[in-house]
Amino acid sequence: MSDGIVIAGGGLVAQRACEALRRHGYSGPLRMVCAEPHLPYDRPPLSKEVLSGEHTQESVRFRPDDWYREHDVDVLLGVSATKLSLPEHQLELSGGHTLRYDKLLIATGSRPRMLPLLVGYENVSELRTIDDAVRLRRTLGPGVRLAIVGAGFIGMEVAATARKLGVEVTMIEAATSPLSSVLGARIGRWFAELHHSEGVEVITDRTVTGVSGQGDVTSLHLSGERVTEVEHIVVGVGVQPNVEWLAGSGLANGGASVDVHGRTEADGVFAAGDAAATYDHRSGRHVPGSHWEAAGHQAVRAARSMLDLEPGKVELPSFWTDQYGLRIQYLGNARLADAIAIDGELERRNFTAVYKREGKPVAALLVDRTRSLPAMRKLLDDGGNR
Ligand SMILES: Cc1cc2nc3c(=O)[nH]c(=O)nc-3n(C[C@H](O)[C@H](O)[C@H](O)COP(=O)(O)OP(=O)(O)OC[C@H]3O[C@@H](n4cnc5c(N)ncnc54)[C@H](O)[C@@H]3O)c2cc1C
Repeated sequence: MSDGIVIAGGGLVAQRACEALRRHGYSGPLRMVCAEPHLPYDRPPLSKEVLSGEHTQESVRFRPDDWYREHDVDVLLGVSATKLSLPEHQLELSGGHTLRYDKLLIATGSRPRMLPLLVGYENVSELRTIDDAVRLRRTLGPGVRLAIVGAGFIGMEVAATARKLGVEVTMIEAATSPLSSVLGARIGRWFAELHHSEGVEVITDRTVTGVSGQGDVTSLHLSGERVTEVEHIVVGVGVQPNVEWLAGSGLANGGASVDVHGRTEADGVFAAGDAAATYDHRSGRHVPGSHWEAAGHQAVRAARSMLDLEPGKVELPSFWTDQYGLRIQYLGNARLADAIAIDGELERRNFTAVYKREGKPVAALLVDRTRSLPAMRKLLDDGGNR
């Protein structure tokens, strides 16, 4: 007997896909295999309001318990997908059970990369789950010396929230400025200056080369013979997709490469969100991972494809981040750009950076300009991003 549609994963994509499947009339069996012991919840607040203590574990849940009963979604909590067998349409689970799917959605997300040098120390944290956030929250307080390794969006959000809690923050970045490889040197320097002016010690062009301490790290040794004393460390040096369980399944590239409809090359197998590498017609390649908005859109498109419905428009890549009370929004693909034009004043923390290629806008970063977003989206859609 078939288990109907099975979703491997229990995060944003899993939730959005379930909602879309039921909304579009799918009434067959629907199972969600969720490695975490918690019903699906939202991750963006983890580095913001959960870490600052303004939101609780309960308040970040997508839906109350009843919703899963009312929509007849069978959620297997604390259970992992461990192996996929394509010919039998079979999913092996931790605990020895198996499921037979008609359609499968791979939605296992990603996890933080860890620096080998920092593995095994008590006072080193990563931030991906609600449990990570609750644990990290307990260690932060006025005067605590926190080092953040990696000045990506997660690292910078943790820095901003930690400063709000009175933590002494040092942020260490290997590049010349935060996010410069994505947003360019000028905007990278703006991010460095933003954090510096809020009391963060921003160390760029340095990597962690060694540590002192037993059990806990007491100091980080950086390239250039610099040493930083620490009480706690957060590592935010990027993520890797949770696709190891697909090894040996025969899916191409060892993972979840999909077309814009969320289809892998295997019959009845779809993927979306951070675990997937989705074909991007604008750059002509598969782009690994996603952010919140893209993951949600991909989930709905995959659900519609499963039901043989038209999957809908492919939205521009986008991201937002909240730091020091500023809403910072990003749209498009700045890597395609050959020039950047700034509208507004960087020093006043209120500006739009428009990235252009051959004179056409291909991406934009908006700082404290939420109301300009719809017009910017239209400009990018009409311009170089079609
Ligand atoms: C701290 C934090 C802050 C963020 N802030 C922002 C933001 O401000 N803006 C933004 O655009 N994006 C943000 N993001 C990114 C956004 O949350 C993700 O892009 C989104 O959650 C991806 O959804 P997903 O369903 O693909 O993965 P996830 O939400 O990670 O869900 C995957 C789930 O699958 C489970 N799983 C893993 N392996 C297995 C397995 N083998 N079997 C079963 N289950 C498994 C995982 O435990 C997890 O519960 C943030 C992410 C984090 C961690």
